[in-house]
Amino acid sequence: MRLTFLGATGTVTGSKYLLESGARKILVDCGLFQGYKQLRLRNWRPLPLDPAALDAVLLTHAHLDHSGYLPLLVRSGFGRKIHCTASTADLLRVLLPDSAHLLEEEALHANRHGYSKHRPALPLYDRHDAELALRALANVPFQTDLDLGDGVHARYTRAGHILGAAMIRVQTAEGSVVFSGDIGRPLDPLMEPPGIPGPADTLVLESTYGNRRHPAVDPEAELADAINTAVARGGVVVVPAFAVGRAQMVLWLIARLKARRAIADVPVFLNSPMAESVTAIYARHPDDHRLSAAECAAMGAAAHYVTSVEDSKALNLRHGPMVIVSASGMATGGRVLHHLAQFAPDPKAMILLTGFQSGGTRGAALLAGASSIKIHGRQVPVRAEVRQLESASAHADGDEIIDWLRRLGWAPRRVYITHGEPAAADRLRQRVQEELRWPAEVPDYRETVELGGG
Ligand SMILES: [Zn+2]
Repeated sequence: MRLTFLGATGTVTGSKYLLESGARKILVDCGLFQGYKQLRLRNWRPLPLDPAALDAVLLTHAHLDHSGYLPLLVRSGFGRKIHCTASTADLLRVLLPDSAHLLEEEALHANRHGYSKHRPALPLYDRHDAELALRALANVPFQTDLDLGDGVHARYTRAGHILGAAMIRVQTAEGSVVFSGDIGRPLDPLMEPPGIPGPADTLVLESTYGNRRHPAVDPEAELADAINTAVARGGVVVVPAFAVGRAQMVLWLIARLKARRAIADVPVFLNSPMAESVTAIYARHPDDHRLSAAECAAMGAAAHYVTSVEDSKALNLRHGPMVIVSASGMATGGRVLHHLAQFAPDPKAMILLTGFQSGGTRGAALLAGASSIKIHGRQVPVRAEVRQLESASAHADGDEIIDWLRRLGWAPRRVYITHGEPAAADRLRQRVQEELRWPAEVPDYRETVELGGG
């Protein structure tokens, strides 16, 4: 059995793992590279595999760094099924067309303003490609055997990361592998703690926060302090948030804070075209999160939804304190860019980052204290206060990952540490080796390893 790492090596983006057993070829996750330009350029290069020869795609969750390459895979000839949980499928029906739309808009914008080297600039894929990918989705229930033929079976276990997120255990005649996907936190306001997959010879383990510890602060208290600080000086709070997961968590925390009057009753706007549908998806899958129907409704009612482009632009002209939650979470695209262009130069404003900021993104630059960021081809000065809502992470930190590994109740023969920037991945590798005494390594991009079986 062979495993090839086609992404999420040295980076948290581009997750793609090719598992080959006998004549079977399975791709686990199919994400976009984001962040540094040299990473993003990989999205444009052909994969070192024939998409038409793949038997199946197994998807851990809906985030684009795990799913956003699917439209291109389908356009390049993949014609089989994409297996994912029902919640993930619902989220993808919102995310993939939106991703295509953003790519189309970016290309249009680049053509209009002439800042692309390519004439004309073309999108990586378009809405038609996204539509074709959606038609290939097949639902897999959690904890149910998925028979992929030729003795290959898969089983999805809850990962606690975002709605529908799973870890996937694949069993073949030659051995077994668990792909951790993104691992959630033991005490998340919205999600149940990560589950325990069955034993496997090989574990592919994420390491986003492998070298860090989340502060032991209550996310509600951290958010209240940020909003109150900005509101007290009459400033606007711009919250770049992943449209799926972090946006809902921020809304839920705001709903709770407002209910107990811990923050002023300032207007809150959710400016993401997919926001309303994503909230509805939470309500449709009550088993996949911790909120009751009433709590889902409160979360949905915590903000005014901004749907039209006109209303989105009008927001920038509003005066006085307000909170604007908008995608994307690392400010790599989307409507939040227009708000950052408007409010980043305002010293009264606050930019509140809510999730992991991958190197090379505007979010990472803001976090590092950049004095200006480039938006739509021009430099925008940053005078607003920049904060990171550290307690609101959707990823387990190093200690939480080690705790989860101890709870597994089985020991893999080898651990491959992926989905982390180099320092994070290597620190987690050391910890796995020293604290658990399990052989662990950090694979390279496009590296292929032979997996020893049982
Ligand atoms: Zn994720």
